[in-house]
Amino acid sequence: MLTFMSQNFYIATSNPGKLRDFAVAAEVFGVAIVPLPRLKNIPAPEEHGTTFAENACLKAIYYSRSFWNHLVIADDSGLEVDALGGLPGVRSARYADDAGFGAPGSTDERNNLYLVKQLAACAGEKLSARYRCVIALARNGDVLLTAEGTVEGEILLSPRGTGGFGYDPLFYLPGLGKTMAEIDLAQKQKLSHRGNALRSLLERYAGPAREKAQRP
Ligand code: IMP
Repeated sequence: MLTFMSQNFYIATSNPGKLRDFAVAAEVFGVAIVPLPRLKNIPAPEEHGTTFAENACLKAIYYSRSFWNHLVIADDSGLEVDALGGLPGVRSARYADDAGFGAPGSTDERNNLYLVKQLAACAGEKLSARYRCVIALARNGDVLLTAEGTVEGEILLSPRGTGGFGYDPLFYLPGLGKTMAEIDLAQKQKLSHRGNALRSLLERYAGPAREKAQRP
């Protein structure tokens, strides 16, 4: 457990699935990660980056300027499916919308339906994929650290499980024989892309970046 942390980390996301992941991660890693107050009152920056790192950094820089003298973390994450050349990638949250795919349901449901549609011709094949996450830590508009995490899996063409969010019901972990939506949140943090990225960031924060962050 990383008990050396005495400062709060403020997480800049309003995605309820990510907020739940970070809340459980805070317990798993023994740190205080709290939602950025009044985030809804701050207009969201445009995520125009072409990589997860660019988007994570631009969000961390932007929100840390609105929340002076605090440690702000932002993440950008998504799903990369090999049979689709790495798509949906940085456009994971907007995959169905980008394609104008107008099925009923929530954004997550439409994204999942659209993914299954795109992969229908590959039924019966093993569909390798990974989640990737980059987390950036910033203070007063400066990025102090970034860290990346991935988790490998396979895409199922029928959803399984009710936990998690986003593509979790389709993301199968062969080692466990379960989808990401069939495991509990504490287990997800131990093996997931977001958990891996956060662990790496917190471990490295124990070094020189922490001193820099604490300078007045
Ligand atoms: P972001 O807010 O631009 O980082 O969007 C990330 C998107 O990638 C989410 O809206 C989901 O569609 C997908 N995603 C990222 N991480 C996860 C996860 O842990 N489970 C399921 N979907 C995820």
